[in-house]
Amino acid sequence: MVLTPLHLSHPRRFEDNRFVYPVLSRRSAGISIGVNLNPDKVCNFDCIYCQVDRTTTSETKFVEIAQLLEELDATLQLVASGELFNLPKFQSTPENLRRLNDIAFSGDGEPTTYRNFDEIIEACASLKKRLGLDAVKMVLITNASMFHRPHVQRGLEILDQNNGEIWAKLEAGTAEYFKLVDRTTIPFQQVLDNITAAAKIRPLVIQALFMRVHGQPPSDAELNAFCDRLNEITAAGGHLKLIQIYTVARQPAESFVAPLTDPEVDSIVSLVARRTSLPAQAFYGASS
Ligand code: SF4
Repeated sequence: MVLTPLHLSHPRRFEDNRFVYPVLSRRSAGISIGVNLNPDKVCNFDCIYCQVDRTTTSETKFVEIAQLLEELDATLQLVASGELFNLPKFQSTPENLRRLNDIAFSGDGEPTTYRNFDEIIEACASLKKRLGLDAVKMVLITNASMFHRPHVQRGLEILDQNNGEIWAKLEAGTAEYFKLVDRTTIPFQQVLDNITAAAKIRPLVIQALFMRVHGQPPSDAELNAFCDRLNEITAAGGHLKLIQIYTVARQPAESFVAPLTDPEVDSIVSLVARRTSLPAQAFYGASS
């Protein structure tokens, strides 16, 4: 690990950042550094459970690459050196979680809609390399709607070469339920085709969020159709390394959305394991 001493680099405190933010993630057992490629909060989906607060507008509308890289550089050093844990917000971080796990491209919209997606992934990967942080993962959290675009495919290839992982969202088995939950004009089949094509090149993690809608959990038929879609992806030669089943953890966009109970999440995990033989993992309402 090659780090510039903090007293020489004077990293900015992350509170001033506009694009980069560290979070303690119990799910990844360490610190995840979030990179927000959608500061304008615009998304090509309008998920009923979305946790992005769109009741307030953001002052930052565009990604400024130089500024973003400067923030990432300073934040990586702040975490990797351990200085982060001297700051009040992170002082109580348990000892075993005081490690830098990943840089996560997520933020307030769909990261792959950013038009310089490949360029920014390349620049972040170079910075990570320059700091000697090869073991740190680069995680793309995505709705998979743009994988068919050539510059996005290039960005995915750069991730592959830099300890990357793709977490693609799939939380429906039918086009009807997809429309109800994800509220987009992008066809369900496009998302399925994109996931299948990407999973043929590298193993993907699937993120599936299930919830109560107007008091109703997803039907058995919908959950079985979801398993059918997973089986179709693998039958077509796609590799899925993990199916993450989770539920609403924070304030959702719509008041008619509510979390599933822990046993309900567990029963979906059991169904996926039984019907697909893929590894499945539960994340409950209070998981971060
Ligand atoms: S894809 Fe993500 S950011 Fe976009 S609306 Fe859905 S949950 Fe929100």
